[in-house]
Amino acid sequence: MKGSIYIDRERCKGCMLCIEFCPKKGIVLSEELNLKGYFVAAFDMGKECTGCATCAVICPEVAIEVEKN
Ligand code: SF4
Ligand code: SF4
Repeated sequence: MKGSIYIDRERCKGCMLCIEFCPKKGIVLSEELNLKGYFVAAFDMGKECTGCATCAVICPEVAIEVEKN
């Protein structure tokens, strides 16, 4: 893995932009609800993250942090 992401589930509003724009299709909408009642995005551990940070840039809620390994 070249990168990894952390999603702040309480900031996430489940808009799915990160899911749509991740070039590796590495993010999915989970079946977990946050305290505001939104289904939250989560990284699919079976996928590869390149650390490109597209998801972090596109997220309107600034909910994603990217770490490059
Ligand atoms: S950093 Fe890039 S590859 Fe990794 S989850 Fe975000 S958009 Fe996908
Ligand atoms: S772009 Fe941000 S708010 Fe939208 S689903 Fe992804 S993490 Fe959640």
